[in-house]
Amino acid sequence: MARYTDAVCRLCRREGMKLFLKAERCYAEKCAIEKRNVPPGHHGKGRKAKLMGYGLQLREKQKVKRIYGVLESQFRRYFESADRQRGITGETLLQLLERRLDNVAYRLGLATSRPQARQLVRHGHFFINGRRVNVPSYSVRVGDVVSVREGSRKSTSIQHAMEEVKGRGVPEWLEFDAEQMSGRIASLPTREQINLPVQEQLIVELYSK
Ligand code: SF4
Repeated sequence: MARYTDAVCRLCRREGMKLFLKAERCYAEKCAIEKRNVPPGHHGKGRKAKLMGYGLQLREKQKVKRIYGVLESQFRRYFESADRQRGITGETLLQLLERRLDNVAYRLGLATSRPQARQLVRHGHFFINGRRVNVPSYSVRVGDVVSVREGSRKSTSIQHAMEEVKGRGVPEWLEFDAEQMSGRIASLPTREQINLPVQEQLIVELYSK
């Protein structure tokens, strides 16, 4: 599957905020946003003008796409699915994205970043309800148990991630058992539990034009 392979810190600088795409570096002073929060490129500084209307809506969509590492066509499908469901479309959209297996592995603290979680899922390190799943976009349900494959429990990447992200905490909608290296989906996340500084309503407005 196609994916973004350019320098990821540029994406944060483009959005003017931390998207947490690079593990520990994102929490350190070395973070590009800490050092130089201007849009990338020769005319970067000039792009700091206040955005309105379409520009604002577009940037909000790009932000969310980049946070979850989803490309345009897939993101559009998430939106269409959210739009067909009952409830507030913007919130449902975020909920669908949160339910991705790579995001859940990241939220459980089994990976330092979503890109790393995606790679671990692809390499088959996770089970869902005892069955191996290697599809990062797999959508978890309430009651599902995500666990680390027996043979991967000593994986340095996962051990390192668990150590590094200890202080980050696990959201309320997930129950984590560090000893068993597994997590249960206790409920679907509410908007309050999805800690993202985005205005999802702007994305709905963009796609509703
Ligand atoms: Fe974004 Fe992380 Fe790079 Fe900082 S270090 S700019 S948060 S990817």
